[in-house]
Amino acid sequence: MMRPSMRKSNQMRHVSLETCVNKWAEGSCLIKMGGTQVLCTASIDMNQPVWKRIQNKTGGWVTAEYSMLPRANGTRKSRDSISKDNRSAEISRLIGRALRSVVDMDALGRHTITIDCDVIQADGGTRCASITGGFVALKMAVQWLIDNGRITRNPIREHVAAISAGLFNGELVLDLDYDEDCNAEMDANFVVSEHGQFIEVQSTGEQHPFTKDQLCTLMDMAANAARELIELQKQVL
Ligand code: UDP
Repeated sequence: MMRPSMRKSNQMRHVSLETCVNKWAEGSCLIKMGGTQVLCTASIDMNQPVWKRIQNKTGGWVTAEYSMLPRANGTRKSRDSISKDNRSAEISRLIGRALRSVVDMDALGRHTITIDCDVIQADGGTRCASITGGFVALKMAVQWLIDNGRITRNPIREHVAAISAGLFNGELVLDLDYDEDCNAEMDANFVVSEHGQFIEVQSTGEQHPFTKDQLCTLMDMAANAARELIELQKQVL
């Protein structure tokens, strides 16, 4: 069965990463994965988060906020700031966890870096694009701290990228677009480190349960795709 986009089962959409797309942010990246476009900025606060200060903890913190613009989709949705959006809250936390997993918080010093991921246009895989593009913005902000003498040791241990995959019309496929996501029998998101290890695996049998073998195949596809995404990150950084 053909994919709606005519892509091969293990073929990602075309990916582009454009850096320095914001004049003010210490790091910024516009990521495009096919029709999905996310603007990621990294902003440095020269303080620890309040909760770390109160608890007398050492080191810094990395956090993320995800939001979709009203017309990122086929029908207008109200702004997150106006109506509470649980989906955005869940995705924000996923992005934060993914990025923190590769950062040494002590080496980051007493700084907080916030990664804002704003979806300009959504066509599936926006959380994964946010992690891949958000990492680029994060690494630029860390470089800003080093260049400005705020820290001496690079706190980033390795790169991180994310990719979706799933079961569509009986076929295991990589990087679902919206048409596939809507009808997927199984839907998964993988956050993968530069060393090919998994940071987070989210997989749901949307229409029926899935097997361990199916999940393992998708993990292999995701690990290969993450290697390509990390190569692209390195080319722009
Ligand atoms: N989507 C939408 N309206 C919404 C949320 C999602 O049209 O309020 C679409 C959008 O194209 C998105 C896709 O559904 O990319 C899949 O959404 P999901 O929640 O699975 O997250 P994503 O795949 O974007 O990480």
